[in-house]
Amino acid sequence: MSGQRVRARAPGRVNLIGDHTDYAGGLAVPMAIDLETVVTGTRGGGRVHLRSANEPLPADVPLEVADPVAVDPPWARYLAGVVAEMRPPLGFTGEVSSTVPVGSGLSSSAALEVSVALALGYEGDPLGLARLCQRAEQRASGVPSGIMDQLTSILGRAGHALVIDFATLTVTEIGLPPDIEIVVVHSGQPRALAGSAYADRRRDVERAIAELGPLRDRPASDADTLTDPVLRRRARHVIGENARVLDFAGALARGELREAGALMVESHRSLRDDFEVSTPVLDELVARLLAAPGVLGARLTGAGFGGCVVALGEPGALAGEGWHVHASDGATVTVEGG
Ligand code: ADP
Ligand code: MG
Repeated sequence: MSGQRVRARAPGRVNLIGDHTDYAGGLAVPMAIDLETVVTGTRGGGRVHLRSANEPLPADVPLEVADPVAVDPPWARYLAGVVAEMRPPLGFTGEVSSTVPVGSGLSSSAALEVSVALALGYEGDPLGLARLCQRAEQRASGVPSGIMDQLTSILGRAGHALVIDFATLTVTEIGLPPDIEIVVVHSGQPRALAGSAYADRRRDVERAIAELGPLRDRPASDADTLTDPVLRRRARHVIGENARVLDFAGALARGELREAGALMVESHRSLRDDFEVSTPVLDELVARLLAAPGVLGARLTGAGFGGCVVALGEPGALAGEGWHVHASDGATVTVEGG
């Protein structure tokens, strides 16, 4: 086992539609992207020791680490979360490199967790790996984040987006038309409030569910029966967003890109007005991108409060903008020698 040369890779992701639905048992259409994190090194010893090209200080985590959130430097908390959830028999010494922009909403954190878990020799099914890495992320960050990022990084497929049903954790693939351009543009605004405001929104949704029951497959008018106007808006977003996800998946499968783009615009409005997770900077960026000829849709992607916008366009419509991403295969690991 020891002395083997290991290379694990895991992609980032972009969510095309369906935000703040995962923790409500809803639906989303993300895809894994051709920006990825790679962990290389050898298994052995009693510690996980990694250097990252993105960080000045190495991470050095003992296999018996108790409290991931107390570990320093902060990026080592993600490794510590994986180690604490996985308790691998052997440590690891190696390096991390990544083309996923860090802290931008393209899920460099899930790419790191998944590639580290595979490098450490995770054995089990993809769903178990996603759950393990989700728990690792929650322990590292203290944020009660959902499972979309990890599932997408693990189950991505080249040329396809994924329809994830968070009620059943089932994943189906939809082929993306070839004549489509998907671009992620950073707003320049860091996601400062993301942690605390995310937890607030999650609590709102849980309160709405406690009053109304599950928000899946119900008419939008059900949200209006809630007495609290804030919860009414939150529920209206979640119910509407689930419906938009299904319509979007259908439109993509039929190659009706105009309709798909219009649903992205609707999604952004709902995140702005009902879920209140947009910012003026994100709204202006969406408006600017939509004003260009051939741009079919644009919306904030991820938790909101800054971060990125994803846009859909005809070929060439988004030239010169952001990261042009392509749907890619999910995480893999190779082990050589030893
Ligand atoms: P996102 O997942 O959208 O990129 P997060 O705030 O969830 O943003 O996660 C970013 C954090 O993940 C970084 O601050 C860092 O601690 C850690 N991280 C991600 N990728 C790397 C990397 N390649 N090297 C070191 N740390 C990383
Ligand atoms: Mg993240």
